[in-house]
Amino acid sequence: MKKRKSTPLFDEVWYKQKRRSFTFYFILLVVIILVVAVALATYLTEVTSTLFSSELRENRFISLLVLVGYALAIGFILSLFISHFLILPIKRLQRAMNKVAEGDLEVSVMGASRFDEIDDLNHAFNVMMQQLRYTETLQSDFIANASHEFKTPLNAIEGYATLLQDENLSQEERNEFLEKIIFSSHKANELIANVLLLSKIDNQAIESKKVSFSADEQIRQAILFLEPKWAQKDISFDVELQDAKLYGNEPLTFHLWSNLISNAVKFSPSGSEIKITLEKGESFIIFEICDKGPGIKEEEIKFLFNKFYQGDSSHKSEGNGLGLALVKRITDLYGGNIEVKNAQDCGAIFTVKLPFQAR
Ligand code: ADP
Repeated sequence: MKKRKSTPLFDEVWYKQKRRSFTFYFILLVVIILVVAVALATYLTEVTSTLFSSELRENRFISLLVLVGYALAIGFILSLFISHFLILPIKRLQRAMNKVAEGDLEVSVMGASRFDEIDDLNHAFNVMMQQLRYTETLQSDFIANASHEFKTPLNAIEGYATLLQDENLSQEERNEFLEKIIFSSHKANELIANVLLLSKIDNQAIESKKVSFSADEQIRQAILFLEPKWAQKDISFDVELQDAKLYGNEPLTFHLWSNLISNAVKFSPSGSEIKITLEKGESFIIFEICDKGPGIKEEEIKFLFNKFYQGDSSHKSEGNGLGLALVKRITDLYGGNIEVKNAQDCGAIFTVKLPFQAR
């Protein structure tokens, strides 16, 4: 997977135009209704009184009653028309909401209204829909990518198991195919473990057992844990670690170091050196890992922490593109941050900054 499909940003141009507020229009309309209703009522009262006897005409109380009656009736009719005009944009929004309830996520409310308040409401609705569409795209991308990643090792297992059914195979061939089956099973297992861990972190279902532990000690353990990989490539380490304690989820933090070290080993040329430093700041630690690999293309940096992103196709079979997504999630859990850049004397340098205490 290269680039994630992105939802176009909501067009805010019309939204930013300055408009008068709903309250202004409301007061203006009430004044207009009052003036028009009183003027019309006065005229109608005049007309009515000329039709009746002079006695009735001279009775001020009855004239006032007639005037109020006319004013109320005219005001009522005018209000009906005007409220229809005011409610129209709200009805438009209601129709859009009904469509969403029916499952249509492509709907948005377009066009400018005369009122700021209605515009704010429409804007909030459109932003909400944009977010919903984005989440849906992420979900369907995730399912498509995960299925694709699972297919590769499963196909290999099926293929080599079928080959093993041939009774004429030599012992050497049998061993070779068995090794390939074990390798692919291991890959599928790793993928499942990573997907599960990511989903646990995303759903905040990870056990939040926080303990105090030594970060430098854990980094040493991670290097040792990966020995079979780096020894095979004859890679050496230059390690400078200050004593530093962290308070957080210990096994998750181990994932963070081991993923970064494992990547550095994977992308380093055989016989090269990986430099790792750990410094203690005032309230945080700074971990840096620099390898002699090819580095990362500037335009790829922004995709690096996406799930299933794999930039370097030559190492595709060794990973699943979930390592850095996990690293990023774990760093976020601490309330820390991770940066990557290329340097002259290094291929890629990853810098992780973690507060002593996770959130
Ligand atoms: P993978 O399992 O493919 O290594 P990651 O999420 O760990 O997945 O890494 C994603 C991509 O980031 C890799 O495919 C690679 O293109 C790039 N990458 C990660 N670490 C390094 C590194 N140290 N040097 C060069 N590229 C790297």
